Amino acid sequence: MAEQLLEGKNVLVMGVANKRSIAWAIAVFLKKAGANLAFTYQSERFKDKVGRMAEGLEPGAPLFPCDVGIDAEIDALADALGKKWTKLDGLVHSLAFAKKEELSGMFAETSREGFLLAQEISAYSLVAVTKRLYPMFSEGGSIITLTFLGSQRVVPNYNVMGVAKASLEASVRYLANDLGPLGIRVNALSAGPIRTVSAKGVSDFNKMLDGMEEKNPLRRLVPAEEVAGSALFLLSDLSTAVTGNILYADGGYHIMGV
Ligand code: NAD
Repeated sequence: MAEQLLEGKNVLVMGVANKRSIAWAIAVFLKKAGANLAFTYQSERFKDKVGRMAEGLEPGAPLFPCDVGIDAEIDALADALGKKWTKLDGLVHSLAFAKKEELSGMFAETSREGFLLAQEISAYSLVAVTKRLYPMFSEGGSIITLTFLGSQRVVPNYNVMGVAKASLEASVRYLANDLGPLGIRVNALSAGPIRTVSAKGVSDFNKMLDGMEEKNPLRRLVPAEEVAGSALFLLSDLSTAVTGNILYADGGYHIMGV
């Protein structure tokens, strides 16, 4: 059944950097469910690698550069995508950024510049991309973003990114209300910690993983492939009544006390 869930659906995946990226695990899952995929990459540095991966998964998959910090690149993405596809059914926003020096020590030491950069790339980018792409969702559809429990609870060293994720989650609710009348759903998927390039930027990330394995109701870590299953749910017609939600794909960690 999963094979047909996204048959004939066009989904844009943003945030693949390498095979460990959560966006990549999601793309592989969506492909199995029959979706047509398009990809973006952040900059020239990622072009060849992401291009090879995309080509291997879906020969001829549209591939576009898009640094979400640059409005002109988001405009160019929307224009180029509009020439490839007549409609869009799904968007995977799986990207974030904060300076490494802001991801350790005291949150109270956060710089103005570091705060604004984390907000811009990790939260506002969802608004910026949605703003430009929602007109392409002519038959409705589903937008998902990736978040983390650090938005709701204090997670040591997550600091400025936790505040950006809180802003991202609030943006999900406002976007869901705006776009609901158009049949477009907007949800966030809150993943547990997964070893990726971005995660390694958070100081003592390995300690977070250790604690998690012991305390999680499932008593194990949740790999990106399992997060991808929840992404498929949110992008498919199985979740047509779900919008403005934060869905935890973290093995249940968020329900725990100390
Ligand atoms: P990753 O490093 O593989 O992916 C991050 C992506 O963000 C990369 O593809 C990078 O190119 C992109 N990016 C950064 N700045 C950008 C910019 N200016 N323009 C365009 N793209 C930009 O790491 P990941 O862990 O797969 O992260 C994906 C998402 O999942 C992020 O939102 C992250 O916060 C979230 N998340 C990760 C974890 C985890 O533990 N890894 C847990 C919960 C949520």
